[in-house]
Amino acid sequence: MKIKFWGGARTVTGSKHLLTSGKQKLLLECGLFQGHRDEAEYTNRHLPFKARSVDYCIVSHAHIDHVGNIPNLIKAGFRGPVVMTRGTLALSRLLLLDSAHIQESDVKYVNKKRRQRGESSRKPIYTTQDARESLRYLKGTPYAKVQKLGNFKAALHDAGHILGSALVDIEVEGKRILFTGDLGRRKMPIIRDPVQVDQVDYLIMEATYGNRLHGDYEKVDATVADIVNRVYNRGGRIIIPSFAVERSQEIIYTLNRLRQSNRIPQVPIFVDSPLANRVTEVFRDYPQYYDEEARKMLLGHDELFDFSGLEYVSSVEESKALNSFDKPCIIISASGMCEAGRVLHHLKHGIEDERNLVLIVSFQARNTLGRRIAEHRPRVRIYGEEHDLRCEVVVMDEFSAHADRNGLLRYVSQMNLPRLKKIFIVHAELDAAEAMVEPLLKLGAREVFIPEVGDEFEL
Ligand SMILES: [Zn+2]
Repeated sequence: MKIKFWGGARTVTGSKHLLTSGKQKLLLECGLFQGHRDEAEYTNRHLPFKARSVDYCIVSHAHIDHVGNIPNLIKAGFRGPVVMTRGTLALSRLLLLDSAHIQESDVKYVNKKRRQRGESSRKPIYTTQDARESLRYLKGTPYAKVQKLGNFKAALHDAGHILGSALVDIEVEGKRILFTGDLGRRKMPIIRDPVQVDQVDYLIMEATYGNRLHGDYEKVDATVADIVNRVYNRGGRIIIPSFAVERSQEIIYTLNRLRQSNRIPQVPIFVDSPLANRVTEVFRDYPQYYDEEARKMLLGHDELFDFSGLEYVSSVEESKALNSFDKPCIIISASGMCEAGRVLHHLKHGIEDERNLVLIVSFQARNTLGRRIAEHRPRVRIYGEEHDLRCEVVVMDEFSAHADRNGLLRYVSQMNLPRLKKIFIVHAELDAAEAMVEPLLKLGAREVFIPEVGDEFEL
């Protein structure tokens, strides 16, 4: 049996790992590679293996760097099932169509510029039609149910990362392999804690935050309540750029709990992201994935994502009308890194007013507007125009959906270490991955590898 690492190796994007047993091949994930335009376009269009020769695919969760290139996998000739939990399937439907729409509008914009320069036009990485076609291959399964896929037996366990996220537990040729996908954190809102799997021979683990520690989630309520009260009292608005999947629902849920306990005033809250609204519908459909606290709340108040003062905005007109709303309010809007979407006009309208506050609740990549705001640069560009950043900015990393360094080490420490033969660290920048090697060896791991793209190992 062999494993070859084709993406998400020494980087946090484009996850793709190929297992081969005899003549059968199983692909773990087919994520979209995100980065500079030309490199991303080439990497996503040209899969490094013959898609036709792959028999099965398993996807750990509905984030675009894990599921986003499935349409190209199908286009290139893959015809097997793409196995995932039912929650991941429901979210992937929304995500893949949304991603296709982004590719299409992105190319339209690029081609306009290219035509002006007399260059040939480009095609989207995949179209809405391609995404729609690929949905037919997605196969939903309950947690823990063993799927027989040729030589492989696979079961999915809750990874505690986002709704429907899974650890992939594979048995093949008498050996057990665990792939963490993205490992979540304990005690996070709404979803359950990661399931501990302990008896494995090989571990493929993510280490996005292998060199970092997160703030305590328990402080979230106090911090958010303080921010809301402060900004409300000075008559300002709070703008929260947020990813549509999971983070938006966690923010809504947190504000709901703070409202119920009268820790924040009756301030109007607007969720202004069509994708976040659809994702929230999926969250409503899957109460069986909730943790105990969320279930209890469901029993007491009926709704996690609806309460008085909360409004879901759908049309562009309603969204724009918020610019002239003259009372204190909270606006939750996408995109999470402020690179596109409706959040841009809220920022343009709001950041020059000292009474307002931008609350950063998720990771901001280099070279994004979100990062520049998080760093509190004095001037930022929005829609090609310079603006003074005069409002208050607060960065909270407590919401992170990834296990931090201690979380990752705790998970491995609970395993039967004498049985564990090799650990492969994936889905991490090199410095984060390297920071994990020594402590893993200290715990008693026998061999730890940080594979590069194209590296292959015999198991
Ligand atoms: Zn993820």
